[in-house]
Amino acid sequence: MDRRDIKSMTYLELEQAILEMGEKKFRSGQIFDWLHKKRVCSFHDMTNLSLALRTQLEENFYIPQLRKAECQISKLDGTRKYAFALDDNYIIESVLMRYHYGNSVCISSQVGCRMGCRFCASTLDGLARNLSAAEMLEQIYYIQRDIGERISHVVVMGTGEPLDNMENLVKFIHILSDEKSDAIGQRNITVSTCGLVPKIMALAEEKLQVTLVLSLHAPNDELRRTMMPIANRYTIRQCLDACEFYFRQTGRRISYEYSLVNGVNDGPDQADELAGLLQGKNCHVNLIPINPIKERDYRESLPVNVENFKKRLEKSGINVTIRRRMGIDIDSACGQLRRKVAQNEAERRR
Ligand code: SAH
Repeated sequence: MDRRDIKSMTYLELEQAILEMGEKKFRSGQIFDWLHKKRVCSFHDMTNLSLALRTQLEENFYIPQLRKAECQISKLDGTRKYAFALDDNYIIESVLMRYHYGNSVCISSQVGCRMGCRFCASTLDGLARNLSAAEMLEQIYYIQRDIGERISHVVVMGTGEPLDNMENLVKFIHILSDEKSDAIGQRNITVSTCGLVPKIMALAEEKLQVTLVLSLHAPNDELRRTMMPIANRYTIRQCLDACEFYFRQTGRRISYEYSLVNGVNDGPDQADELAGLLQGKNCHVNLIPINPIKERDYRESLPVNVENFKKRLEKSGINVTIRRRMGIDIDSACGQLRRKVAQNEAERRR
């Protein structure tokens, strides 16, 4: 029989599995504590369990691990970019950002991505596979252990489309925010999507308290379709309606991500069109100059255009910030470290 991934189990699933083994229910509490509070990496370390039970667990379950393949540390602001190898040697990328309010980790949700956004490095090789809940959790646990400081915020904005991996994402959120783990509150967890409308509705039905970010990037469908293939599937109107539904179900204000590309989506007309679209909504717009990737022709907006774009939105009463860029000295666009390390590892194995 295949061993099961014990770390991806929610508390209820673990309880069920332990009962099926003929063990007492309270054991699941102890094991969950070892996995998600003390965060040990082997059954051997679960020292308040009998040796017999530890052996039995070892036979039936496994604990997925990450191996650090590379870590770049910014001398400017302490930002760290990690490349991790998974048990099957795929490489993923995670980023630690230090803010005045605490430590935030940006995690990946998939190995690669199949959404095909034109400005994004993570999608260049397509999707390899989904990450399990454990592999999402371990990015946070690993970094917390590595820096010896608590992680207080998590953004699911690394490689991958989280709503394309919905089942594991929801498990991940339940485990991470479970009061029996070293919990991170749902309000400190942010999930970003390119706009998978039915999945946004489904997430809303889960009635979680996580913040939802929609990657909008254009004020009309025609332009959005040139940047993001998903825009051929769902219109901006459908996305905004789904976001409205999310807001009604959860009471959580939506954020809109708008990456500014020089001469493509950063003009005054586009700012006004965007303002018209979002007028009267309880929302927040995050502007970020695009991080150019060498495989594509997009260039970042000039600072003066970024500033003007922001001012025009503000004039229409829209809540807007320009995202501060972290770790500029180690900067490479999202997904580029992963690709570089993966290529090096492939070379090495050859
Ligand atoms: N798939 C999800 C989450 C991962 S991408 C999503 O689309 O939202 C996280 C954010 O980074 C998205 O807003 C995405 O559009 C943006 N992004 C990707 N590549 C970028 C780049 N080169 N420069 C600026 N933003 C980028």
